[in-house]
Amino acid sequence: MATATRTNPLSYLTDQLNELKAKGTHFNLRVLDDEQAAVCTFDGKKVINLASNNYLGLTTHPKLREAALEATRKYGVGSGAVRTIAGTMKIHMELEEKIARFKNVEACVVFQSGFTANAGTVSAILGKEDFIISDALNHASIIDGARLSRAKILVFEHKNVAQAEEKLASVKNQPGKKLLITDGVFSMDGDIGPLPGLCDIAEKYGAIMMVDDAHSSGVLGRNGRGTIDHFNVHGRVDVQVGTLSKAIGALGGYVCGSRELIDFLYHRARPFLFSTSHPPSVAATCIAAFDVLENEPERIEKLWENTRFWKKELRLLGFDIGGKNTPQSETPITPIIVGDGKLTMDFSRELFKEGVMGTGIAFPTVPEGKARIRTIMTATHTNEELEQALGVLKRVGKKMGIGVS
Ligand SMILES: *Cc1c(COP(=O)(O)O)cnc(C)c1O
Repeated sequence: MATATRTNPLSYLTDQLNELKAKGTHFNLRVLDDEQAAVCTFDGKKVINLASNNYLGLTTHPKLREAALEATRKYGVGSGAVRTIAGTMKIHMELEEKIARFKNVEACVVFQSGFTANAGTVSAILGKEDFIISDALNHASIIDGARLSRAKILVFEHKNVAQAEEKLASVKNQPGKKLLITDGVFSMDGDIGPLPGLCDIAEKYGAIMMVDDAHSSGVLGRNGRGTIDHFNVHGRVDVQVGTLSKAIGALGGYVCGSRELIDFLYHRARPFLFSTSHPPSVAATCIAAFDVLENEPERIEKLWENTRFWKKELRLLGFDIGGKNTPQSETPITPIIVGDGKLTMDFSRELFKEGVMGTGIAFPTVPEGKARIRTIMTATHTNEELEQALGVLKRVGKKMGIGVS
């Protein structure tokens, strides 16, 4: 068969990639040669890593490593099926019970990732007659779940509780169910969702309250119990999502709530029904991680000590770290706002050459004109490493006209 004349039906992708290249926001993946750590090697270059979500350094914790190895020796490398067919292992149940106890809720279901936890849950509990009242900066997985549910989506301005209430009021006489949903910590700006106010209006209008605590798990609240604990709104959030992929150091997402909610998700959440469960090593790792949260609170204390130092020093260097035209960070996520997408990517590349890994983030991940280097502090960065990184930021920033008073 002649193929010579066949035109490439995907050529439009090349066009779009070329557009990104022209705009200066095209990137190549940085490849990690060794372990995910505060100092590690990307693309053959040793750098101070300001880009990971490894808040507590658990990706390389000896107890977690050992738990993964032991589970692999005992139970093999895979679960062999989806949870509802033959892929529920005792260790999966143990992890769910462990998280439920930690969060002080009736029950928990673990998903393959935080993304599938959000998308699978929102799309399972709502249908096209229903309404989702959602913060403008909520995570993509919430937005995708909302779209999959086919419910009507009403977006309120970031953290604007009064506007969220207006949206709820506007549909209060409609027959559909209402879901009020927010991130606990917003991943690009590091600010915290207004949970108490949102819980108040959810109760006032009889809405389901849902919080995505991906960046707060292991970071905020007692022993890292998240924003529900931070604000002491226990019992007022019907659906609590967390991740096992960030501070917990491994992979996965979970939903906490009533026994009935979890039982329903076992029956209806599509990633749970149609995608294979975690290898036993992942479940074992996460179980060990929750023990570490309980037994090594000094990690969380160090994370916050580093965070306070880092923010203070960046401010002294004259960088815009949010709070002017962007939200004010209150957590270890600290953006260095640059504005222009291309300048941000160039800044990131220059920093890398000088030994600092800070990922540039531009449109569409953040709004146009609000591109930034997102830095994330961890408990494992030493003072010396932080001083060194600040030196590089100062030098490169000065050269490129970013920050530096
Ligand atoms: C990272 C993140 C997720 C996704 O979690 P994964 O476990 O990485 O899939 C969901 N929601 C928010 C707010 C996040 O920051």
